[in-house]
Amino acid sequence: MNRIRRINFLKLRDVLKNKLRRGEESFSMNKVIFLDRDGTINEDVGDFCSLDKLKFIPKSLEALKILQDLGFLLIIVTNQTGINKKIFTEEEFLKFNKEYLKILSDNNVEIKKVFYCPHLKEENCICRKPKTYFIEIAKQKYNIDIENSYTIGDHPHDIEMGFESKAKTIYLLSGHGKKHIKELTVKPNYIAENLYDAALWIKKTSNL
Ligand SMILES: [Mg+2]
Ligand SMILES: [Zn+2]
Repeated sequence: MNRIRRINFLKLRDVLKNKLRRGEESFSMNKVIFLDRDGTINEDVGDFCSLDKLKFIPKSLEALKILQDLGFLLIIVTNQTGINKKIFTEEEFLKFNKEYLKILSDNNVEIKKVFYCPHLKEENCICRKPKTYFIEIAKQKYNIDIENSYTIGDHPHDIEMGFESKAKTIYLLSGHGKKHIKELTVKPNYIAENLYDAALWIKKTSNL
């Protein structure tokens, strides 16, 4: 390699390294875990928006760490009807969301993005699960390898959203999972006891 070419090569390598470090771009596509929140990461105690009602499902934070360490981006997609039911305001939700993410971050888990639908079912919005709207937005933003990504949740609508998006799907028996299992309209790739079980299954079965 002559000198000029070598310098250009080194420059290019540094630029790319920095970009990768900043997480802005990557040549390989991102594999994502689209996570439901209530009943999946934390106990589903109905519409809530305060730390005193927040209870993490056993080992769910460890599960998130496993998935993160496998190289997945973690994105939460949650229906937060409590906002438009006026149980809490959007500002209160966002404040709580910040506190929630701080707890995860203190446990070395970084959530890339939280998508939330504030609408009531009757509003027939474009974003409420099982609609795939948020996944479509994420795809535009994060260069996602959707076929090697997963949606995980304790409600049939989490599975329907994933199936429609061509992601793999894992249905959880935690949260409301047991109650709603008969309402599944599509067969998930796996049915797990909880998020930790799901993470172990992904670790075992995905080609990483
Ligand atoms: Mg749920
Ligand atoms: Zn919505």
